[in-house]
Amino acid sequence: MNMEKKNIDWANLGFGYIQTDKRFVSNFKDGKWDDGIMTEDSQVVISECAGVLQYAQTIFEGLKAYTTEDGRVVCFRPDLNASRLADSARRLEMPVFPEDRFVDAVVETVKANIGYVPPYGSGATLYIRPYMFGSNPVIGVKPADEYQFRIFCTPVGPYFKGGAKPITIKVSDFDRAAPHGTGHIKAGLNYAMSLHAIVTAHKEGFDENMYLDAATRTKVEETGGANFLFVTKDGKIVTPKSDSILPSITRRSLMVVAKDILGLEVEEREVYFDEVKDFAECGLCGTAAVISPVGKIYDHGNEICFPSGMDSMGPVTKKLYDTLTGIQMGRIEGPEGWIKVIE
Ligand SMILES: *Cc1c(COP(=O)(O)O)cnc(C)c1O
Repeated sequence: MNMEKKNIDWANLGFGYIQTDKRFVSNFKDGKWDDGIMTEDSQVVISECAGVLQYAQTIFEGLKAYTTEDGRVVCFRPDLNASRLADSARRLEMPVFPEDRFVDAVVETVKANIGYVPPYGSGATLYIRPYMFGSNPVIGVKPADEYQFRIFCTPVGPYFKGGAKPITIKVSDFDRAAPHGTGHIKAGLNYAMSLHAIVTAHKEGFDENMYLDAATRTKVEETGGANFLFVTKDGKIVTPKSDSILPSITRRSLMVVAKDILGLEVEEREVYFDEVKDFAECGLCGTAAVISPVGKIYDHGNEICFPSGMDSMGPVTKKLYDTLTGIQMGRIEGPEGWIKVIE
């Protein structure tokens, strides 16, 4: 654990791929996972006909490791990433990578790249990307027989450079997830089909898309990569409930923080788009930003402007943000088991 810190300008890192020293690789063959290795080889070599290349059989996770105030390297609730990857695997007919081994492999990967974990206070983090894909040739449509599970990591810069400025989003004309589809799992396929929608939104000057439920286009679902959290005018926390939303670990943790630590009322329920104009604050929850405040929602010529405005996070959102990041950074005691120390 005494590996020296790499010479990186932490504060000015963006969100991009920087190759680190080691990554974890395990292969599934003849019905079982091998022991896995830590390797310096960053290249993946697979058949031209691999299942992932033909039929997009691939799933992933995302989490972060960082340095706490007292100098420990930790990550946040990796057990939930393990179980969510297992859920994703079952839905795409892929073998489950054992959840305890997932957590161990995350720890080993961070340890092997400890020099890339940014120092406390830099705002930067080590982003960890576990993923799995069908690796053997598949030409008739069926699940692959062989899979590779990998974990690499890459240092990323502070999400909010110069303060968390509220963003403007649009109600999308595209759908993200079908009822009874794959919206609730973290699969590459959900992102491939969202690329046109996000490129379109960016061209029109918006930061993100708000997707509505595909069946009725009346209920709020999520954005391409983050769950919604709303604050009512009387300080209640509301988050949309739907079978086609990806269960964000950040959002689930924020709901616990709101209820058990801040003593706020919380509701996970269907949220009609018609109600959105009456909320006081709106934020997007995900590992990358924790909460990204939304100032304005554009809906086909109509604008919803939240009272919290376009300059800063709303007061309740800020309190949630400060409390969860305080727990993550070791400044505030959180619920048991939330912090996994890398040792
Ligand atoms: C990963 C992801 C999120 C955020 O989940 P976290 O566990 O909080 O990082 C939200 N929505 C979608 C579609 C995602 O893929």
